[in-house]
Amino acid sequence: MKNQLTITEFVNQFGTREACLEHLCSLKWSEGYTCRKCGHDHYVKGRTWYYRKCQKCHYDESCTSNTLFHKIKFPLEKAFLMLHLISTHKKGISTCELARQFGVKQTTAWFFKRKVQEAMTRTGSHLLGGLVEVDETLVGGKEEGKPGRSLGKKQIVQVAVETYTDKKGKARCKRAYGQVVDRHDAEALRAGLMSMAAMGARICTDQWSAYEKATKGYLHVAKPSNAGANFQLLHWHIFNLKNWLRGTHGHIDSKHAQKYIDEFHFRFNRRNSHGNSVFITIKRMVEGSWLPYREAIGK
Ligand SMILES: [Zn+2]
Repeated sequence: MKNQLTITEFVNQFGTREACLEHLCSLKWSEGYTCRKCGHDHYVKGRTWYYRKCQKCHYDESCTSNTLFHKIKFPLEKAFLMLHLISTHKKGISTCELARQFGVKQTTAWFFKRKVQEAMTRTGSHLLGGLVEVDETLVGGKEEGKPGRSLGKKQIVQVAVETYTDKKGKARCKRAYGQVVDRHDAEALRAGLMSMAAMGARICTDQWSAYEKATKGYLHVAKPSNAGANFQLLHWHIFNLKNWLRGTHGHIDSKHAQKYIDEFHFRFNRRNSHGNSVFITIKRMVEGSWLPYREAIGK
């Protein structure tokens, strides 16, 4: 597995519209062709090389249509390069910076970023296991925004970190997730926990009483927080997450908080395979469904 694809190598590979389209075609029809409209599996060449036309109902579809690349208002090679930056840059990239670097309007950059976040959404297929430390924190709201902006209320985010001990006996963080929860009660905390950690995981929390019920069926260890000293990895992770939200984005709309939290963890959980994360993002964008603007703004 190649660990790091440099930006130069990436541009060499995907510097033209044709190269990007070819890549999207290979992803979209990697398992053969099926017509979206009628399910028929034979096609003829469509209006141009990156289209396929159903032999039965004549529905003509391009490699971008109905995917998250659908109707992007700037060149595809630019989109690919943006994707490289968003997925591989350690801290990601804000929409202001994207707009500035690529000479697109800020709303255009924001909308594209939202599509990328769709592709980075946690799928729930790789739940945390082993020893998992869990706690909640608050994000968003006025205190974390720029002065005079964002009056959105703070949200509770439950954070789970899978830890392990390295060869030198040092505790390390393997993977992590965050989940916005409505309340601090057992029911809400349990739902959050189950979306992040597999049954069979050993869950370590502070002594908050709700966790007794919330961890039913899991192996549960409750220990005093000791002002955070007993949960150093977890609190360091939470600190980094909050810093990133504040530093990169200034303020985030609370209704999009989960998207940002997932984006953060998408990169975090792939921090040792940066070269791959851009290809995973592109693949997921092809597998994703077109996101209309009204839906993106959460109307
Ligand atoms: Zn058809």
